[in-house]
Amino acid sequence: MSTVPDRQLEFGTPFGDNDGVQLSAPIGARPLSGWTSILPRSPIEAASVRNRHAGSGAGRSGAMQLDYALLKSIHAKLVQIAELNDQKERLPRMLKASQAAEAGLLRELEQARLTLTAVRKVADEKQLQLSIREARIEKMTGQRNAAENNREFQVLGDQIQADQSANEVLSDEILESLVRVDELVAQVATAKENHAKGIAETARVQADAAARATRVEDDLNRANNELCELEKRLPGPIQEEYRRLTRSSGENAMAETDGETCGSCYSVVTTQTLSDLYAKKAVFCKNCGTLMYHSAGKLV
Ligand SMILES: [Zn+2]
Repeated sequence: MSTVPDRQLEFGTPFGDNDGVQLSAPIGARPLSGWTSILPRSPIEAASVRNRHAGSGAGRSGAMQLDYALLKSIHAKLVQIAELNDQKERLPRMLKASQAAEAGLLRELEQARLTLTAVRKVADEKQLQLSIREARIEKMTGQRNAAENNREFQVLGDQIQADQSANEVLSDEILESLVRVDELVAQVATAKENHAKGIAETARVQADAAARATRVEDDLNRANNELCELEKRLPGPIQEEYRRLTRSSGENAMAETDGETCGSCYSVVTTQTLSDLYAKKAVFCKNCGTLMYHSAGKLV
């Protein structure tokens, strides 16, 4: 009498659609070192593989059988935990990015203010220079009116003329500076507005991140507890290898296979591997080392 429970033998029809078809790795698959094409090439060959397990298979020979549905659940849980950890790591990065953007807006505001101050200072200096020269013109005009001779009158007249010409140029420059000041005042106002928006955005991201962090943490705790419960159901002999694999590769420690290729590295499975999968042994990919499993009825 078979010691193998019926449900563990229900894999569907082995090699159903692929009998006699030479299988190859999909595009993008890693090249295999020492890849040996020993897959069944004919229905007869396929049947011989099938028969090895239908008859005195590993289940009967006393080898450990795994519950592949359990492996699938554990794998799904590992993937979920990895996604949650990824979310958890993304949250501080989002906040950091928002803070960096806010700091950039503050720098723009400070730069706009500095430029405004500098342009205003130049405009004020020119204004002062204009006033001084105007006072001098007034003084020289008085002196010229009181000139005692023609030469003195002429010299003062020339100086007054030169100062007036210089002041005309200066007046134009002051006007330009004042137009520039108006522009810069508008720029400072915009920069101030943008910085305020940046501060508000950081606050929003911070509040959002805090709320999401709590949710993610809760989900992680729940998922880890569920994983622990599932892991307890793994047979003792495989526990150590499972722990070693998950410690180094996380959710990539396991991969579902369709019986043709490894779900992780896409290398073609060997006939022996296929036999072991039918026998529900602990099967590790010969290429990438992941613990393989397959869903009931999905093995080709
Ligand atoms: Zn692999």
